[in-house]
Amino acid sequence: MTLFRNNPRIRCLALIALAVAFAGFAPAAGPVVGLILNAEQAADLSAGKPVAARYVAAVEKAGGSVHFFVIGDDAPGRLGKVDAIDALLIPGGDDIAPDRYGQEPDPRLETVEPALDALESALFKAARDRGMPVLGICRGCQFINVCHGGTLFQDIPTGYRRKPAVSHRRKEGETYLRSDHAITIRSGSVLARATGATRLTVNSYHHQGLDRIGGGLTVTARSSDGLPEAVEGKRGPFLLGVQFHPERDFENTPPFEGIFRAFLAAAERYRNGKPTPKPREGARPRE
Ligand code: MN
Repeated sequence: MTLFRNNPRIRCLALIALAVAFAGFAPAAGPVVGLILNAEQAADLSAGKPVAARYVAAVEKAGGSVHFFVIGDDAPGRLGKVDAIDALLIPGGDDIAPDRYGQEPDPRLETVEPALDALESALFKAARDRGMPVLGICRGCQFINVCHGGTLFQDIPTGYRRKPAVSHRRKEGETYLRSDHAITIRSGSVLARATGATRLTVNSYHHQGLDRIGGGLTVTARSSDGLPEAVEGKRGPFLLGVQFHPERDFENTPPFEGIFRAFLAAAERYRNGKPTPKPREGARPRE
């Protein structure tokens, strides 16, 4: 002990050995979830402001971490960053440009961001090509449907008129407020297993809705007016889109937390089976 206390070199080596031992026992970091940011969020990110805080908190609570994708990450040669993630999360946001599903803009179409649509489309394809789990929330759910060849109601109040009417979004002045409504979930579906429920009250903020369902997808939840509230892939790796926002209330809504747990469990399975990415012949090193 005297030697340890009096010899700074030995003390230093002992501390290094201790640190190495602890690092060896530290649990491995969880799966990495790619999260897509719009232009405004990307600007906040580069200004050092926190972005997409609720999504990040929900992913971290379920044992994962987040890697942000910003517009420009779909430029040629940059999509290699997809190999650094284990799952893709397409979050909520503005409307989707209707030319993506072969329609002219409705007069009630709201803000669209075609550069964001392009980024999401490229990332969705790259993720699915690799067999990666994908979770779409609100706009992300709609985007999954569009990527599968489906269409949207550009404005639910005027485009979707089945009764009884359900409020999917409330507006006061220029502010959009949450609306709560019930959904019925198909038993045995990914969503039913993740939430442990076949009937659930959800928050609702969406302007657009799913009209024709894309090939390879199946509706697994509806509100009482019949509007789709969730879609899943009929086969293949985890693919779930929900119209509501589980990231907003996951702390006090166990079924919502369950969605992130199921998503992260799928990401973990993908990570464990993922082959180590090899650089292609003649490929430039990644930045
Ligand atoms: Mn809704």
